[in-house]
Amino acid sequence: LSAPTAQSIDALAKHFPLCMQSLHNDLRANSHLKHFGRLQYTLFLKGLGLSLEECIVFWRRSFKLMTDDKFNKEYKYNIRHAYGDVGGDANRRGRGYTPYSCQKLLTEPLPGPGQSHGCPYRTFAEDNLIRAVQGMGVNDRDVLNAIKDDKKKQRYHIACNRVFEFTHKKEIRKVKEEGSWSATDLDTILHPNTYFKRGWLLKH
Ligand code: SF4
Repeated sequence: LSAPTAQSIDALAKHFPLCMQSLHNDLRANSHLKHFGRLQYTLFLKGLGLSLEECIVFWRRSFKLMTDDKFNKEYKYNIRHAYGDVGGDANRRGRGYTPYSCQKLLTEPLPGPGQSHGCPYRTFAEDNLIRAVQGMGVNDRDVLNAIKDDKKKQRYHIACNRVFEFTHKKEIRKVKEEGSWSATDLDTILHPNTYFKRGWLLKH
């Protein structure tokens, strides 16, 4: 998996978990994302291996209607801060912040109007969630019902793993038959970056 560039994010987004696909789609639809969404997505992209320079290019191009002046004054600093290029205590200097885990995304305050951060298995209404997972290729009625049940029981990351398993079922069967992946390689996913990396490796 070679280092991604600002240019390659659109193509990679189909391998993202729903939390990050949802932010990506909102960004493309509105040419903007609110603060917490930007932070969640920036740290995920950092976890993908996107360099600070490419990450700045990514956001600059994504905010299509914004002037360079506004971008440089109000947005660039936060991206550099997330990467540890500026600010922060001695501990974070040079490293910045760690990409958020599912646990973190599932326990933070719910998004307000116009915000789209967090885990959609928790934050979306049931019908929106079902539409979204159908958009990811989940068309099996039993699986869709199981996702609804997971949501009701607040087993959000189980629903997400169910979607992953359904959308990668051929590939998972293959690596199991070949014995090329260990049971640990296929453990329950607990981090959006693991979702991406595992999916990408299975499909390539
Ligand atoms: Fe993202 Fe984790 Fe929620 Fe899946 S369970 S959508 S990876 S936060």
